[in-house]
Amino acid sequence: MNQTKRSVTINPGMLCQPIGAMQAVLGIHGAISLVHGSQGCAAYPMRMFNRHFQEPVEIALSSLGEDAAVFGGADNLVKGVHTLAARRHPEMIVVLTTCLSETIGDDIDGILKKIEVPVTLIPVHTPSYVGSHVTGYDNAIKALVVHLAEQTGPTNKINIAIGLLNPGDIRELRSMLDKMRVKAILLTDLSETLDAPLILPRPTFPNGGTTLNEITDTANSLGSIAMCKHAGGSAMQYLANKHKVPVILGATPIGVANTDVFLENVSNLSGRPVADELRRDRGRLIDAMIDVHFKVAQKKVAIFADPDIASGMARFVHELGMEPSIIATGTESKEFVKDVQAIASQTGHEMEILSGCDLYGLHEAVKEVGVDLVMGNSHCKYIADDEKIAFARIGFPVFDRVGYQRRSIIGYEGGINLVDMITNSILDHADAA
Ligand code: SF4
Repeated sequence: MNQTKRSVTINPGMLCQPIGAMQAVLGIHGAISLVHGSQGCAAYPMRMFNRHFQEPVEIALSSLGEDAAVFGGADNLVKGVHTLAARRHPEMIVVLTTCLSETIGDDIDGILKKIEVPVTLIPVHTPSYVGSHVTGYDNAIKALVVHLAEQTGPTNKINIAIGLLNPGDIRELRSMLDKMRVKAILLTDLSETLDAPLILPRPTFPNGGTTLNEITDTANSLGSIAMCKHAGGSAMQYLANKHKVPVILGATPIGVANTDVFLENVSNLSGRPVADELRRDRGRLIDAMIDVHFKVAQKKVAIFADPDIASGMARFVHELGMEPSIIATGTESKEFVKDVQAIASQTGHEMEILSGCDLYGLHEAVKEVGVDLVMGNSHCKYIADDEKIAFARIGFPVFDRVGYQRRSIIGYEGGINLVDMITNSILDHADAA
């Protein structure tokens, strides 16, 4: 089911394309996004990042006004690139289009080719009248490998496209890979750039992040995995088509079964066995699940998140003995619908599937189906409050509680965090009733 039959969106369930692309760029060392658009196209995403990640974030802007809307924004873009290169000395500037610059028809690829600066320039097309932040992230990761990946000789690394996840998730991923002694190129790694230690004076660009050399090297890897196929899958597929790097799309390692599959995939591509330590972590997760079984079993859940997170979460709440009753995403995707239908038929649960829904549509479904728990970003709190049901925060943005971005939801450790979060939400709600 999708919500687009209505002629108006009420409380949008997705963000615009450039914000997803910006998040991808924030995970690259020494890189900065230059948004080719007007003020709000940079101001609102920066605020969103500040609130969710609790970190200062720098986004540059070509600052298009009325004159550019009529005569074109090339002058602003050229001046913006020169100013940014001269003042901030980045290693790479990623130019992101917006609704306005795409509608004007500025040829950013052509404009960038003529600019001479000692900085790598990458154009990314992110018009926000199509797709969502998920599409923007996917487009940005693909643009990076299209422009930078180069065959120079085989390595023993694997590529992992992360998707729109948090610093805590990337740390958990690194921990799993370290336990298996697998070397990986992460596209892109914001574990340090968006969760940096306090360093004074503050460096121009945060330490950490994926380097440009690593992105170049993705063409030489043993294989690629897109943890979230909607967000990073296109880039991994491109590496397979162009550079013959074997690709696996999914599974997002949320919960027991998906993490098992993910680790098997890592093992198959890298040739490294799944470490015994990870099997112990798996056992701890299952123990945590059994401990809470009587508190959560048969509770009906509405899940609202980006497509791969929502489908991964649906499988996990099923593993917990709960009933995934509404599985919703703000990004319209046939693939998402197919994924959730497959989970429904494998698990025998009846699920309301909402693809491309807004929060009004989600609220209507919650009222109609009747659930015990809503899982979603901070905006979904109002639905849970109105319906007097429990609420667990997942996704982006989470701005009304601290620490979400530091914890993982992926891997066995992330599963334990989710068990605690889900169970405590239900217990807190019962206490408050
Ligand atoms: S104009 Fe388009 S790109 Fe800019 S903030 Fe609005 S939706 Fe996003």
